[in-house]
Amino acid sequence: MSIRVRFAPSPTGMPHVGVIRTAIFDWLLARHYNGEFILRIEDTDRTRFVEGAVENIIGALKWLDMDIDEGPGIGGDYGPYYQSKRLDLYHRYARFLAEENKAYWCDCSPERLDKVRKELQAKKLDPRYDRHCRNLGLKGSPGDGKHVLRFSTPESGETTFHDELRGDITVANSELDDFVLLKRDGFPTYHFASCIDDHHMAISHVFRGEEWISSAPKHRLLYDALGIQPPKFVHVPVILGPDKAKLSKRHGAANILEYKEMGYLPEAMFNFLALIGWNPGTDEEIIPREKMIEQFSIERINISAGVFDIGKLDWMNGEYIRSTPLDSLVERLRPLMSEYGWVDADFKPWGKAYVFEVLKLMQERLKRLTDIRESAFYFFEEPKEYDPKGIKKAFKGGDIIDRLVAARDALAECEWSLDGIERAIRSTAERLDVGAGKIVHPVRLAVSGLTGGPGLFEILHLIGKDRTTGRIDRAIEWLKG
Ligand code: GLU
Repeated sequence: MSIRVRFAPSPTGMPHVGVIRTAIFDWLLARHYNGEFILRIEDTDRTRFVEGAVENIIGALKWLDMDIDEGPGIGGDYGPYYQSKRLDLYHRYARFLAEENKAYWCDCSPERLDKVRKELQAKKLDPRYDRHCRNLGLKGSPGDGKHVLRFSTPESGETTFHDELRGDITVANSELDDFVLLKRDGFPTYHFASCIDDHHMAISHVFRGEEWISSAPKHRLLYDALGIQPPKFVHVPVILGPDKAKLSKRHGAANILEYKEMGYLPEAMFNFLALIGWNPGTDEEIIPREKMIEQFSIERINISAGVFDIGKLDWMNGEYIRSTPLDSLVERLRPLMSEYGWVDADFKPWGKAYVFEVLKLMQERLKRLTDIRESAFYFFEEPKEYDPKGIKKAFKGGDIIDRLVAARDALAECEWSLDGIERAIRSTAERLDVGAGKIVHPVRLAVSGLTGGPGLFEILHLIGKDRTTGRIDRAIEWLKG
């Protein structure tokens, strides 16, 4: 059997991390079996359509390096891949179901439906459609503006559907509604369009959020009425925030593209999201994509909800940054460095070799690419202020100015090598009879404005003698106030 999996987002907003995590499962299964990963845009709710949403979805998949085999702008034998362009197909099936008496036209007004709903609610009954039009034999046609098409759900008996993770689930038909298949405007509902499309696109597996479980019996009935085989269903658990509520904007960014802006690497994001809800059966957490493709299996998807732990993402991102070859890290950080005004597209004025050396010192310390702004600016610009905590700790003592003057003089005269710088600092401390920290910390604060960072001797060496002594002089002036 050929494995064909579709990612079927609705273009109603920014691509949510939960939706993208489902797409990752789709993609992994497709790649594991050398199958097809298909993008289908479910744009049948015209009122919720958001301009630019499709581009953002495609942009998110591109960022995560998830190649699409069939979809909008790519083509394939099963298109079009926008549901809004497949109305004729849905209408054919609609007519078929109506003729077979498996569905019926209904002209109940929204006011009537509302009244029925309220009456049922008042009686503490389920507020569902009262099947008023079911036996009226109304004549309608798709998109006639007056009728919706409703499914004739059996009033007794049971329906069983199979979920790959949960097994068989059985529901009494009396629990189900005569749900709408086609709306007045001729657009299909999700239930109708997704069943037809999954069949027509020869989809083998459907991964979708577990919020769709309650609709699955309806889909099963629909498949039976159409005389077609359903695909395999995998309902994946939701992603929760740290407070165990469904992940939303409230928890920070829920839009995947914001993580790109925040300086996360796509490899790290992919790895992190895949592990929310799936595991390889070992404790391994950093799993290169190729290995994940090899190991991926539906059985290892968890049924319980996963938590989006940003601390873990930060850790993972740091690991990925550290394992990125320096050459490529330089290229990846260049756009950000340009945005900060440090270098242009050709690494001028500092030169690529200098940037390379800076990143050699910083690579270990970055959690997000954007951390570079706060932690490495002093390689490119003069510090404009000193860390207030550092001022209290490192710029204190009646002899602080003497210590800085002595360090400046020793550095001005020393040979500008790592050893030479270290000797200058240590001999200054010995001469003044103070611990090395009494020289190292003030010099670090003077030169970088910060209290932490890579080794001081490396920093000074890279920044150069003139900038080093100039910055110490400026700190002395500042201290003299
Ligand atoms: N368009 C549906 C949604 O965005 C897709 C659900 C499915 O994958 O079937 O929730």
